[in-house]
Amino acid sequence: MSDPKKLIILDRDGVINHDSPEYIKTPDECHFIDGSIEAIATLHKAGFLVAIATNQAGIGRGLYTKDTLAKIHKKMVEAVEREDGRIDAIFYCPHHPDDDCDCRKPKPGLLHQIEKHFNINLNDAFLVGDSWRDIRAAITVGTKAILVKTGNGEMTLEADHDLTGVVVCDNLAGAVDWIITKGIA
Ligand SMILES: [Mg+2]
Ligand SMILES: [Zn+2]
Repeated sequence: MSDPKKLIILDRDGVINHDSPEYIKTPDECHFIDGSIEAIATLHKAGFLVAIATNQAGIGRGLYTKDTLAKIHKKMVEAVEREDGRIDAIFYCPHHPDDDCDCRKPKPGLLHQIEKHFNINLNDAFLVGDSWRDIRAAITVGTKAILVKTGNGEMTLEADHDLTGVVVCDNLAGAVDWIITKGIA
C-alpha cells in the first residue's frame, strides 16, 4: 500500500467483543466475537492502522476502574498480537452519560483525538460500529461508516435512522473483507 497509511477506527463492544447490558467489567467477561481478532490482524497485515474508539461509561458509573479497563484492553491487544496483528491505539470515553463531555459518541471528540494522534485526515478513514451513536459520530466528521449486524447492529438497522451511504456487513470479518476488496478500490 502507498503511504500515508489508511486508518480504520473500530468500536469495541458489539464489534470486537460481545456486548453486555451489565457492561464488560473484567477481562474474563470479555469474549471475542468469532473472527474479530483475526480480522483486526488482517487489517494490520494489509497495511492499515487500527484504532479503537469506545464509550466506557462503566468507569463514570463506578463499575470498574481505568486499571481494569487497561487489563481488558491488554487481553485484546495480546490476542491480536498472537495472530501477528496490531492495535495501534485505543481511545475511550470514561465519562458518565450525564457528564456532557465532548468525547462520548455520538459526539465526535474521540475521533478528533484519534485524528490528532495519527495526524491523519478522517475523511480517508473508515469506522466500523454496531450502534447509531458510532455511525452518527462517523458521519459528523466525514468518515466512511460501516454498520455491522453483531451487537446492537440489527436493532440499529431496524430503527428509523438515515443510513444513506452507510455500508452494512454481517460482522467485523465481513467489514474487513469489504474494506480490503471494495473500500479502497
Ligand atoms: Mg458498540
Ligand atoms: Zn467523554
